[in-house]
Amino acid sequence: MNYNGKFYKNWEHLLNNSVITEKQFLKYFNNKDLFLSSVIKKYPMFINPYYLSLIVKKNDPLWLQAVPSVSELNNCEYTSDDPLNENLQSPVVNIIHRYPARVIFLVSNRCAMYCRFCMRKRRIGLESAVTGKTIETGLRYISKNNSINEVILSGGDPLLLKDDCLEMILDRISHISHVKVIRIHSRVLCTLPHRITKNLVSVLKRYQPLYIITHFNHIFEITREAETACNLVTDAGIFLGNQTVLLKNINDDPVIMKKLLERLIEIRVKPYYLHHMDQIRGTAHFKTSINTGLDIMKFLRGNISGICLPHYMLDLPSGGGKIPLTPQYIKKITDKEMVIHNYKGEVYTYRENRAVKS
Ligand SMILES: *Cc1c(COP(=O)(O)O)cnc(C)c1O
Ligand code: SF4
Repeated sequence: MNYNGKFYKNWEHLLNNSVITEKQFLKYFNNKDLFLSSVIKKYPMFINPYYLSLIVKKNDPLWLQAVPSVSELNNCEYTSDDPLNENLQSPVVNIIHRYPARVIFLVSNRCAMYCRFCMRKRRIGLESAVTGKTIETGLRYISKNNSINEVILSGGDPLLLKDDCLEMILDRISHISHVKVIRIHSRVLCTLPHRITKNLVSVLKRYQPLYIITHFNHIFEITREAETACNLVTDAGIFLGNQTVLLKNINDDPVIMKKLLERLIEIRVKPYYLHHMDQIRGTAHFKTSINTGLDIMKFLRGNISGICLPHYMLDLPSGGGKIPLTPQYIKKITDKEMVIHNYKGEVYTYRENRAVKS
């Protein structure tokens, strides 16, 4: 495969040729006023040649996701690296146990690209965050807690582990009798679809029921390569869902969001969540208002298939958990009746299983 005029033999070759310094970046986009070096010192850059090839021009939706911006340092509106208190809800290192029956298990700190808006900006790319020892400790915690019925592998990106390492983890989890479902949160289907090899899929297939949630934010990310990768996963009988983060100037527009969601179901990826952005230090320039999100949801209802509709979610600061945000359809509700408007704004009164238009 060729990107930007260079040949790459496989996903590892792509990954190993990622752009991580300002000098490397300037070879592709000669734009000296970006101050990349100063941002990278605090928040590393990592853009693989595939994702880089999708960037067409400065500040396009993919550039904004991948290329460091001085706003990461200058915009001080958000001051916490961990507003959701993940570190406080971590009984052992790399396990986040917020809800009774499901845990997040961080098994990788690498990603195929470092998204500038990442909620785990505090740890992405750090060498020491995941080791054989932290994986062992996490597995032991899960096996000792029989209230846990679902394990969510996250990171970083779990699918950047080597096949045999990933298989070891999946195998160990699958032998814990109280764990019924494994879920993997991975962005590689979008940022490095070449990672979805036949061998990887044959590994994953052995650990059903397995759910994969991926992360597309813009229709420009749904390329032929991404579609092929999604097909390999779904053809293996693995459920594939998507979470999108609502991001300013990237997808905070009803029509752009509609296009993304419709294209996702064409490639058999079920939209799962639309996340309101977390208040992470260094990401405030991506902020949108809750009303923007609600307006998008209001537009989508009625204008797209119900299959396309994600839940719009807010992850409460301080670790309160996720809650769905829904446009207000109910205007008034009593024991006897409910006054409600539909997606067109028409008002109905609902009584005893009967709706009367008013
Ligand atoms: C988001 C999240 C989950 C998964 O929540 P779902 O609603 O099941 O997708 C689990 N644990 C933590 C700590 C989370 O932040
Ligand atoms: S792939 Fe996920 S974990 Fe990695 S940088 Fe992007 S948002 Fe963060």
